[in-house]
Amino acid sequence: MTDDFRPGQVREVTAVSNPVIKEIRALALKKNREESGRFLAEGLKLVTDALDGGWVVHVVVFAKKMSSNAAVQAVAARARAQGALILEASEKVLSTISRRDNPQMVVGVFGQRWLKPEAIRAQDGDLWIALDRVRDPGNLGTIIRTADCAGAKGIILVGETTDPWSIEAVRATMGSLFHMPVARMGVEAFLQWRKGWPGMVVGTHLEGAVDYRGVDYSGKPVLLLMGNEQQGLPPALAESCDRLCLIPMAGQADSLNLAVATGVMVFEIRRHALVMKGASS
Ligand code: SAM
Repeated sequence: MTDDFRPGQVREVTAVSNPVIKEIRALALKKNREESGRFLAEGLKLVTDALDGGWVVHVVVFAKKMSSNAAVQAVAARARAQGALILEASEKVLSTISRRDNPQMVVGVFGQRWLKPEAIRAQDGDLWIALDRVRDPGNLGTIIRTADCAGAKGIILVGETTDPWSIEAVRATMGSLFHMPVARMGVEAFLQWRKGWPGMVVGTHLEGAVDYRGVDYSGKPVLLLMGNEQQGLPPALAESCDRLCLIPMAGQADSLNLAVATGVMVFEIRRHALVMKGASS
């Protein structure tokens, strides 16, 4: 980041050529996100969720016309207290950041957080979700949100996947990214790590041998493995599963959307965990 990225200041920005704004816009590219370890969260809700979750904030940009809004002032004050740079910008400037005609009135630049594989601790009743080469940022964001709704403990990205820190993926998580740990592993590393998994590994496959409703998911931790959107699970990953489940379908479609299939699975797994606990929600 340039020297213009000095913390603790409040600046007014009207020019889209402002160097800080240019650096924020550069976060649209994965390469720049990786190099800086930063990403963009758009909207008051997401920025507030990230601050609530203790995520490190570097910059907050808000629309000048929102400068007297109490919630925006509170966000700016919290970010400033962390030493973040606070920018008051014209709507034109904000629209170049989010590349939308109807831009969000608040955006924040945060530090990425990856969970280290060795930090994954699974206990009885826990659910973790591993995604093989997930390609679509909307699918990934929706899965992170769904995992949060179902009480999953975290997500493991396997192989070359879409970036969870892209603006599209972050948007689709609706803030759940800030509560859901995300780890990443290559395929070989995953196969190795999986050997130490203390519970059941459940894969989903169009040629799955078991109806997903016929499996008992209660007790031990469950690792749910979902296949790539185009190719499904490759043989090496499919063979690493204790169970390969099929979600029976009617109609003409050849498969469910990845995020929908994940939703079906996680709520079935959650139902078993709740039956074990004798709970009703
Ligand atoms: N053409 C791909 C294939 O042959 O597997 C379709 C992949 S599907 C869009 C993405 C993933 O969602 C699959 O790899 C699987 O994990 C899951 N999935 C989708 N529909 C499923 C079903 N009916 N039963 C089990 N898993 C399913």
